[in-house]
Amino acid sequence: MRIRIPRRRGGSFPARFPSRGRGSGGRGKFRFLPILLFALFALFYLWSNKSAVPLTGRTQFVTVSRDQEVALGLQSYQQILNQSNVITSGPAYEKVKEIGQRIASVIEPEFTEGFKWEFNLIDSEQVNAFCLPGGKVAVYTGLIPVAENEDGLAVVIGHEIAHAVARHGAERMTSQKLQQWGTMAVGMSVGDMDPSVQRGVMQAFGMGSQFGILLPFSRKHESEADDMGLTFAARACFNPEEAPKLWERMAKASEGKEKPPEFMSTHPNPDTRIDNFKAWMPKALKTRSSFCKISKNKY
Ligand SMILES: [Zn+2]
Repeated sequence: MRIRIPRRRGGSFPARFPSRGRGSGGRGKFRFLPILLFALFALFYLWSNKSAVPLTGRTQFVTVSRDQEVALGLQSYQQILNQSNVITSGPAYEKVKEIGQRIASVIEPEFTEGFKWEFNLIDSEQVNAFCLPGGKVAVYTGLIPVAENEDGLAVVIGHEIAHAVARHGAERMTSQKLQQWGTMAVGMSVGDMDPSVQRGVMQAFGMGSQFGILLPFSRKHESEADDMGLTFAARACFNPEEAPKLWERMAKASEGKEKPPEFMSTHPNPDTRIDNFKAWMPKALKTRSSFCKISKNKY
């Protein structure tokens, strides 16, 4: 959808008339209409694209279709794999694939519609892993020593898969789109004001939406992926008690390093998340015992 920005009224008729005599260079006024229209449009737009996150039930607004999301995921995955040294054999690769498949198998099929699971190991020092929409998972070899054991690896893979199942990427795209439209609406509203006032308002709006909406959003997503990922790992009969230990190791791995591991920089607040894991533990242990009663696994 395109929004037209009306042209600034240049030196022609309207600018010659008003406010010249007001002194102090005071120009046009703030226009409420664009903001009001944007707010009404945003409300309608969001409300008609409302859904609930699997497991947590949180209300989310996603305007990207599943097909679009899966196609984008596949495209990015192929790009990343093409530019990486992909390991397709050996014990570490087998382990990643086995753990990933075990986790994928315990997720309700209705939450993974259109997914074609794929698990790859990428040779890189990065302490990182990801899952793109459509079930495209990759683990970097740098993560293996920090994950330490298969339960640790399951916690990370569970977390990444949870991001894809909860459609966090599509939700972020939706909020970024709204932020862009909001920026245009604010731009129209202040279009006739003094340039320095315009700059100030635009900066305030930019910072407000960044720190008030987008960043809290990403923290919410991280915590939700931790919660859901722990449930998935527990359902697949891995030991959820490894989660807080894993995050302690992650925090240690970033200590004293100039640049923290990628996984840490995009997944902040290790202390808070360790506390969260401890709070979720009774639920996760219960899940594991109910899913793994007649399991052949060691637990
Ligand atoms: Zn994450």
